[in-house]
Amino acid sequence: MDLVISNARIPNYDSLMNVAIDKGKIVSVMPACCIDNLAAKEIIDAKKSLLLPGLIEPHIHLEKAYMLSLMKEDACSLWDAIRITAELKSQFTKEDIKERSIKVLKNAVLNGVSHLRCHVEVDPILQLKAMEVMLELKESFCHLIDLQIVVFPQEGIFTQPGTAELMEEALRMGGDIVGGIPYNDRDMEEHINYVFHLAEKYRKPVDFHADFSDNPQDLSILKIAEQTIRRGLQGQVAAGHVTSLGSVLYEHAVEVAKQIAKADLSIITLPATDLYLNGRGDQEKIRRGIAPVQLLLEHGSNVIFGTNNIQNAFTPFGKGDPLDIAWLLAQTAYFGSKQDADMLVEMTTTRAAKALNIQNYGIQEGAQADLVLMEAASVRDCLINRPERKYVWKRGVKVATTNMQQELFNMVKC
Ligand SMILES: [Zn+2]
Repeated sequence: MDLVISNARIPNYDSLMNVAIDKGKIVSVMPACCIDNLAAKEIIDAKKSLLLPGLIEPHIHLEKAYMLSLMKEDACSLWDAIRITAELKSQFTKEDIKERSIKVLKNAVLNGVSHLRCHVEVDPILQLKAMEVMLELKESFCHLIDLQIVVFPQEGIFTQPGTAELMEEALRMGGDIVGGIPYNDRDMEEHINYVFHLAEKYRKPVDFHADFSDNPQDLSILKIAEQTIRRGLQGQVAAGHVTSLGSVLYEHAVEVAKQIAKADLSIITLPATDLYLNGRGDQEKIRRGIAPVQLLLEHGSNVIFGTNNIQNAFTPFGKGDPLDIAWLLAQTAYFGSKQDADMLVEMTTTRAAKALNIQNYGIQEGAQADLVLMEAASVRDCLINRPERKYVWKRGVKVATTNMQQELFNMVKC
């Protein structure tokens, strides 16, 4: 046995557990009280701390992270953010993209992220520059984190001639998923049809940026659900944002939620960006501008959350910790109970694994040993405190540790 993590608190188990790992896989999960003699090359006593499967970041943009110092103005709308970023990205070099992407990836690993899906921009401005960098990083970081690469036409497909050809080339180079952004093209339906055409041609899953507005008329998600069902791609399609559904009248929103569930779409809410950019046009009854997460869950959809952006025009905050986003969603989508805490952690672990089709995931026999240990007495405590990630393992190998020290001086009784 290579490693035993003893006395760990694991979601869905009542007692403390021992997790045994060999050759990168979990080989047993047993109650700690049943085992007297532990035998392994390394034994780590979790001391009742919380052990989770590696966290999953399902939606992030690496090449446009950490851009605040490059920006001459702040964005006041989604269209501002797209314009400001498009202007800056014409000056991106492969070295600069690589440097900023590595910064995100390192922080992700330190935060306990074992799988990350990035949307990589492919268009006439960047050409295949970002794609080439991400393929290189996918390989060079594979011992630390599993990367999924979405071929993403941020500037539209048909409004930017040459993008369709670049997307095909990116998929041939090794792109894992076909991306789409119907709200930023000349015709929503034409865009969606083309993305599905590519998905079928290259046999890839699909991940859209969809309905990012407060306008209840923006419901491309219905077309996405219809195409998913028609082509038999249930379980293979995800959509990020889907914020306009939050402005749709309740009874109609219920019908849309049922269609989303029927197509087995995974909805990825991106609260750090959505809260920042949406609701700005409202002078009274200001909307929160996020997807109606409760409603979607009630009607059986798989809903998860992502970081989306780190410190740029779309989101001038963030440090790439999924637990920060869990906390933000808890506050803004009314998730405050113990059961809600369990669900939020599922959203960044098992539910995200379903959305991203990650196999052999979780804390059970036979799963890949991607694990994170954090000093929390419960799942709820882990969300409230977002504690340091004491140890992070990738395929059974320790890849990160954090030890923060705080000390209070001069504690005198008043
Ligand atoms: Zn995005």
